[in-house]
Amino acid sequence: MSSALDTLRREFGGGIIEPGATGYDAASRTVLAVGTPAYVLQPASVSDVQSGVRFVRDVGLALSVRGGGHGFPGFGTNADGVVIDLRRLADVKVIDEERHVVRIGGGATWGQVADALAPHGLAISSGDTKSVGVGGLTLSGGIGWKVRKYGLALDNLVAAEVVTAAGDVLRASTEENAELFWAIRGGGGNVGIVTAFEFLAHRTTDVFFGTISFPAAETAAVLTGWGEYFRTAPEELTSNVVFANPFLGGPDAPVQVLVAFDGDDPQRAAEAIDPIRRLGTVLEDVVTLKPYGEILEEGMVPPPGIRFLGRNGLVDEESAPKVLQALAEVGASKRSPVIGLRSVGGAVSRIPDDATAYAHRSAQLMFVATFIGPQPVIDAAGPAMEALWDKVGPHVRGAYANFLTTATEEDVAAIYPAATRRRLAAVKRRYDPDNLFAGNYNVRPR
Ligand SMILES: Cc1cc2nc3c(=O)[nH]c(=O)nc-3n(C[C@H](O)[C@H](O)[C@H](O)COP(=O)(O)OP(=O)(O)OC[C@H]3O[C@@H](n4cnc5c(N)ncnc54)[C@H](O)[C@@H]3O)c2cc1C
Repeated sequence: MSSALDTLRREFGGGIIEPGATGYDAASRTVLAVGTPAYVLQPASVSDVQSGVRFVRDVGLALSVRGGGHGFPGFGTNADGVVIDLRRLADVKVIDEERHVVRIGGGATWGQVADALAPHGLAISSGDTKSVGVGGLTLSGGIGWKVRKYGLALDNLVAAEVVTAAGDVLRASTEENAELFWAIRGGGGNVGIVTAFEFLAHRTTDVFFGTISFPAAETAAVLTGWGEYFRTAPEELTSNVVFANPFLGGPDAPVQVLVAFDGDDPQRAAEAIDPIRRLGTVLEDVVTLKPYGEILEEGMVPPPGIRFLGRNGLVDEESAPKVLQALAEVGASKRSPVIGLRSVGGAVSRIPDDATAYAHRSAQLMFVATFIGPQPVIDAAGPAMEALWDKVGPHVRGAYANFLTTATEEDVAAIYPAATRRRLAAVKRRYDPDNLFAGNYNVRPR
């Protein structure tokens, strides 16, 4: 151990933080998990990441890679292992003004990206929160406010710089190391540490964004109408729904339909959004034109002791009516989790399932059911979650990794259909045969 540590100290230009050092507590914690790692390495360059990987291999400790630190299962930290924390690799640079290619450090957050791209009038389809990491969100998908028009965040990736388990730096794109590039787009960090992403950004105008609320008593009708509308809605329109929110009254909470119209033409926006206004009795309608960067929320750190138990599913067009009906029934009960829905489809569905390691292309919507509270609330929530799953499980075609809170074998099977998992395992055999990168929804090389 001591010679490996000596070598690391000699080679490493970033920070090496050990227990007891200033900043250790903050560095060993993610947004939702508290860890006690033996070392937190904060690389300042790609070669630091290489040294970090070699160190981990030499000392044989468990490795966690931390991007933005927002992963629900807390993969970004561990007990007694090593954390490679990428937060110092956060440069955002437009490297091709004509094609709008943007190079982003593997530890940047989407807020840093939005701030850097706003002066260029550019944006990248990503998520809804500034503090979420580009790394975790992109490597497993990326469902945000432009998803129906521009696809998942990973659909906008044109290349990545990757440090492999051997400590090599590889460029992955459709031309170079194409299988690695396939695996990066959906493989959730299984095949290496991405030190830089290259995205194709698009020109953005201000966008129409806001919330339209309906009474809880109209939940079933609103959900059914919403699902029906998103079979044909214009792709500029992306929408989320939240209901049964315990902080707004649980089963009596209004149904909130959030809309984002990607464009600044008021007439076209109204044409796209008005069918949603007609779904029921509008209680509140606050939709305004805003710069894209301003519709992203600041991330919130939950109070200490607050836990999440979440389960989600991707749902095809044919199953959507049944699932929406079942979710409306669940939301009306006192023991309901908060339920969120996201429209997907559009540009996401035009890409074949086997083009990337994200394979749920035909889904029209994704729902997330989440219990939130202190541990006793979470412990008591199991039966209610099972009851919900008994109703909707048969109509669901898989899970979205980024909104799962657990990390079971069943979760890995839901994220990766069999053919995707086999292909990922083959890429893993080639680039990470000893499963160094196991702090994720792990696909083992064998
Ligand atoms: C408040 C909040 C809002 C959210 N909103 C959205 C949303 O709108 N859309 C959406 O799709 N998802 C959303 N998510 C889910 C989010 O995408 C996931 O939690 C994601 O994993 C977070 O990535 P991270 O880099 O911040 O987290 P981390 O915990 O740091 O990383 C998550 C996983 O990715 C790996 N990883 C991260 N960076 C790298 C890298 N550069 N190279 C290799 N591996 C890496 C980590 O090892 C870990 O396994 C949200 C989550 C929260 C908490």
